[in-house]
Amino acid sequence: MPKSPARTKANPARELVFGDLWEYDPAPETADPKLKPRYDLFINGSFVPPRAGKYFATINPAHETKIADIALADASDVDAACKSAHKAFTNVWGKMPGKERGKYLYRIARLLQDHAREFAIAETLDGGKPIKESRDFDIPMAAAHFFYHAGWADKLEHLAPGRQIAPHGVVGQVIPWNFPLLMLAWKIAPALAVGNCVVLKPAETTSITALKFGEICQEAGLPNGVVTIVSGAGETGAAVIQHPLTTKVAFTGSTEVGKSIMRSLAGTDKKLTMELGGKAANIVFDDAPLDQAVEGIVNGIFFNQGHVCCAGSRLLVQESIAEIVLAKLKRRIAVLRVGDPMDKNTDLGAINSRKQLTKITELVKSGVAEGAEKYDTGCKLPAKGFFFRPTIFTNVSMSHRIAREEIFGPVLSILTFRTPEEAVEKANNTPYGLSAGVWTDKGSRILQMSTLLKAGVVWANTYNKFDPTSPFGGYKESGFGREGGKQGLLDYLSVG
Ligand code: NAD
Ligand code: MN
Repeated sequence: MPKSPARTKANPARELVFGDLWEYDPAPETADPKLKPRYDLFINGSFVPPRAGKYFATINPAHETKIADIALADASDVDAACKSAHKAFTNVWGKMPGKERGKYLYRIARLLQDHAREFAIAETLDGGKPIKESRDFDIPMAAAHFFYHAGWADKLEHLAPGRQIAPHGVVGQVIPWNFPLLMLAWKIAPALAVGNCVVLKPAETTSITALKFGEICQEAGLPNGVVTIVSGAGETGAAVIQHPLTTKVAFTGSTEVGKSIMRSLAGTDKKLTMELGGKAANIVFDDAPLDQAVEGIVNGIFFNQGHVCCAGSRLLVQESIAEIVLAKLKRRIAVLRVGDPMDKNTDLGAINSRKQLTKITELVKSGVAEGAEKYDTGCKLPAKGFFFRPTIFTNVSMSHRIAREEIFGPVLSILTFRTPEEAVEKANNTPYGLSAGVWTDKGSRILQMSTLLKAGVVWANTYNKFDPTSPFGGYKESGFGREGGKQGLLDYLSVG
């Protein structure tokens, strides 16, 4: 019998499951992502080297090998970027009829579809997520955001009937590394639809698809300066948000950096939206369809290696079914395939960076030290690259760090509850409030829970479902403002 990767010394007694009997052949994605060895800044419609001539390497986290050099923009590059964006806003984009702006957005959406395979591979190489996720989720959803907002561009009078609306001008946008192109689409599509121009800074570990998006803007014939991409680290992001010409700032990232941005902008009249961290409760009641719930738990925490702001990282399960849910969950995660992100059969790819791997490892250690019980699948991990096994913790109490802090990795903390009131109390007992999940057979309970849970998004009998028409955003320390839908568009306008 082929050896079972999921059986280890640590876990010799695990019962045999279907996956043990079969080995998959490798199924690598092999198409050419058309990468360049060096990426310059996308300013005023062209790729230009950074003024100080500095570059940094971006690596493939699955192999720890360098992929390309990425331009490091300093304050003078950001200044040039903001000036070109402002010129484009004043002379072209801000004045253009919505119907014409919409045509460009449609063109971008279609070009993203045309280049979907290339973008999916680039995303997976640079960020470590499984190819099946970049191929089936990130890139199609990014295109969907452009299609949806293209449709709004000539219908803006329906956003706030009877009121005067106007774009802000130049919008400074800073995004994280977990959904690089998708977060770019969430930011750029609504901003452009209503007539703003944007200066966007991608995250330092995942700049490639943002810079490839510059090529899409060129191919779409987008007027120069409407979209500007300045790569770099935190300092570049700070220069974008501080620049006097960015009258609106949209940030997605950690609560810590979000707070420091808010402090630095206090007293200015810049408009702000913040999409920050989360520690979502995924709540399973005893009347839930358990096999479906287990799929939802797995998707909630292991999708994108758990690098998901709305990940269902706290499982709240009703005490009477806790044992059976745990048993089913262990069986299910034993067949998750962890490894080469470019393999089409891979479920969990690489952790995005060594820094993130260190953070996950440290928090998992704290869970053990504080007395929670750790279980992982024991699966074999690639010798090189940044990987982490699907991990679950039982005996977790609300005071443990693993129950309070965002781990942003494939680590689930399981807590139990007896009554719906206790579930709500525990779910809301967090500084965050981005999302939640409810699993139950009763419609009335879904409605009641979604009213009582302090979370921007509440999924019922499903998890991690997204749609451009549906506003997404947080309560409390998860941020403010919405992305998607009508609400998301309004955050890019001033309404008089
Ligand atoms: P991060 O806050 O470290 O970085 C986010 C971005 O901000 C990066 O581009 C970074 O270069 C930039 N940045 C860092 N310091 C800055 C500064 N002082 N001024 C301006 N920009 C600065 O977060 P991360 O580790 O890249 O991403 C993970 C975090 O993002 C998690 O906390 C996650 O929950 C959050 N996130 C939230 C959402 C959401 O929609 N709410 C979506 C995705 C990720
Ligand atoms: Mn990278």
